[in-house]
Amino acid sequence: MMPSILVTGANRGLGLEFVRQYAADGWQVHACCRDPEASTDLSEIAAGSDGRVTLHALSIGEAGSIARLARELNGAPIDILLNNAGTYGLKGFAEGGMEAQAFGGMDYEGWEHAFAINTMAPLRLIEALIGNVAASEQKKIFTISSSMGSIAAPPGGHLAYGSTKAAVNFVMSTLAMDLRGRGITVMSLHPGWVQTDMGGSMAPVSPQASIAGLKKVMAGASLATSGHFIGWDGNRVPW
Ligand code: NDP
Repeated sequence: MMPSILVTGANRGLGLEFVRQYAADGWQVHACCRDPEASTDLSEIAAGSDGRVTLHALSIGEAGSIARLARELNGAPIDILLNNAGTYGLKGFAEGGMEAQAFGGMDYEGWEHAFAINTMAPLRLIEALIGNVAASEQKKIFTISSSMGSIAAPPGGHLAYGSTKAAVNFVMSTLAMDLRGRGITVMSLHPGWVQTDMGGSMAPVSPQASIAGLKKVMAGASLATSGHFIGWDGNRVPW
């Protein structure tokens, strides 16, 4: 049987490219996003997939929506659980949202929102679907984090976004320890600065290159490297 992956934020950006590349490899893909029908790109990939790409409505910030998804999946094994959905804040990076999270201008409501989506939602999804991952062959869990969450080498500014990614790195590194006994590999990943709605058009990396690199990292991940924070180029990112 082909392996399976569940991707959040599958309707655009990096999530959509993950779906495209894993579907092309013949994987079974559970593509999750708030409004699956609204993304024509995603619908087209699903339509041409011989039923291997299935669409699921998921509002990642809502506990009830995550519980509904878990019921819908009904114990199906998931080889890779991939937390990709994320937000820069209520005002996006590419829309000049930096000022709303620079010292002196913090939008606290936006910070809370980013924390709910970038930090708490990934853990909630992992808690809800841990049985599906444990029932699979590969047993891997990844979260798309960011080097902007590095405490060792902070970029300056980006206080809300960076702190939510630093916090989710803590969650992932802790889960690597807590889930090791169940044979589950856990990792935070950095995709590079990529041309998406979030990254903007100035970004140097294409979604195709970023995801091709991340797929190699994900394929190579094992209990031996569980708990590492790794970039799309295969190198470790400083915490
Ligand atoms: P995009 O802004 O292009 O896409 C974000 C995705 O997350 C969309 O699918 C969006 O769904 C979903 N999402 C955002 N907020 C919510 C929410 N409240 N509920 C449900 N889904 C939500 O971003 P990217 O594709 O660039 O980013 C993907 C991941 O990569 C994120 O975690 C991001 O932080 C990370 N990243 C990106 C970098 C880059 O340069 N692009 C650099 C480092 C990390 P919807 O369409 O419904 O809003």
